[in-house]
Amino acid sequence: MSLVKTSPIIAIATGNGNAGVGIVRISGEEEDVKALFQKMFPGKEIKPRYAELLPIRDTQGQILDTGIVIYFRAPFSYTGESVLELQVHGGRVLLNWIVQEVLIFGKEFGLRQALPGEFTERAFLNGKIDLVQAEAVADLIEANSRNAAKAASRSLTGEFSNKVNALNDALINLRVEVEAILDFPEEEIDFLSEYQSQEKLEDIQNRLESVLDSARQGEILRDGLRVALVGETNVGKSSLLNYLAGEEIAIVSDIAGTTRDKIQTDLIISGVPFHFVDTAGIRETEDRIEQIGIERTKQEISKADVILEIRDIRDQQNKNKDSMQTALKMIKGKDVPIITVLNKVDLISTPLPNTKDVSRGTIIETSAVTGKGMQELKSELLKLAGFSENQSIYMARERHIHNLLNVKESLKRAASYLNSTSPQLELFAEELRGASDELGEITGKISSDDLLGKIFSGFCIGK
Ligand code: GDP
Ligand code: ZN
Repeated sequence: MSLVKTSPIIAIATGNGNAGVGIVRISGEEEDVKALFQKMFPGKEIKPRYAELLPIRDTQGQILDTGIVIYFRAPFSYTGESVLELQVHGGRVLLNWIVQEVLIFGKEFGLRQALPGEFTERAFLNGKIDLVQAEAVADLIEANSRNAAKAASRSLTGEFSNKVNALNDALINLRVEVEAILDFPEEEIDFLSEYQSQEKLEDIQNRLESVLDSARQGEILRDGLRVALVGETNVGKSSLLNYLAGEEIAIVSDIAGTTRDKIQTDLIISGVPFHFVDTAGIRETEDRIEQIGIERTKQEISKADVILEIRDIRDQQNKNKDSMQTALKMIKGKDVPIITVLNKVDLISTPLPNTKDVSRGTIIETSAVTGKGMQELKSELLKLAGFSENQSIYMARERHIHNLLNVKESLKRAASYLNSTSPQLELFAEELRGASDELGEITGKISSDDLLGKIFSGFCIGK
């Protein structure tokens, strides 16, 4: 524990509404928590891990409620500090009142309201959990699908951290070997060990790829897959969205945008969150208002993970509509999958021959009226989200992916130093060191106050 004294903190740990039970949590150094207990419950003995029904009184000695009091002695608590938990009736007024009175009791010990995430931050600082696990706490609380909850709880148990740490261990081992060669230049460099280094590096790279895969899936579970709906007016973009929304759980529906016809709908399809953004469509236009809309559409598309390009199936012959494809490709430098949806299939009597004239992506014929093709559309979206039932997915965040991608780049450079005609082992080792640091940032072995502040301020108060 740190030499600097940390002040005890208090917060309501349970949710915002009235409930049967509510929990007020206090965390601090052992002497402070003990002294506070003595003031609140004079004459009572404090016993760790012992649930006792006690009257909770205000500073005037009036009983506010009777509840179960549990003391967790450091370091055997959530925060790693000494923790006092008051389990009382879960009314907002009552809980806030208790907090106010306990604050008065604890004033002389410096007791104050906890900041958002401060309990968890202390758990991290005291080494109870690493940074990935701390983030998983918030993700588990905020999980809006079972898959997300499952992935968060996997991260919370340390599965993701273990993978990252194991990768890091392998990197460090390899670096130690290489540095040994560098430190003893008189011993001639062994070609066999160089060859082994290369093998080991490849093994690490493969393992990194699989961690990245799982983490990417986790990020989608957390942040959702962004789907941009693109198409001319009246092809049925809104109708398709409404159809999907009618079948699935809509978390947030119809966030009206500032431009005509721009709407975001968040849906969970088979446990995977999707953000559908209905855009105004991309067209060549002189109209200024419309041009603003088009700018926004371009921005939406550049953020999208998938593009749903929707056409009226009856317009298939109309080749100039293909300018849209070109426009889409232009905006997206990288390869974003496009699903082409030929809508209003109920309006044609004979199936169109040879509709598969689009070079890239999948084509699905749909009807927002009869529902034809909608299952196919959903499974195509899920396929693009890359979910397979058997893969273990960790709850991951953008920052984890960012670090993992940096590791990937480092290892790529490292490999090139090894592969060149005259291997540059020093540079090789330096890249391995950089990669190690990146992995350390994920679990918080290496962390800045900035990063910690950013992470924990995203928590709810009381966690
Ligand atoms: P958007 O401008 O692309 O969002 O198109 P809308 O969803 O507003 O649809 C335009 C019109 O086409 C409306 O009158 C819809 O009822 C109709 N529509 C949309 N999808 C279908 C479909 O699959 N079949 C038929 N028959 N009509 C559709
Ligand atoms: Zn629309």
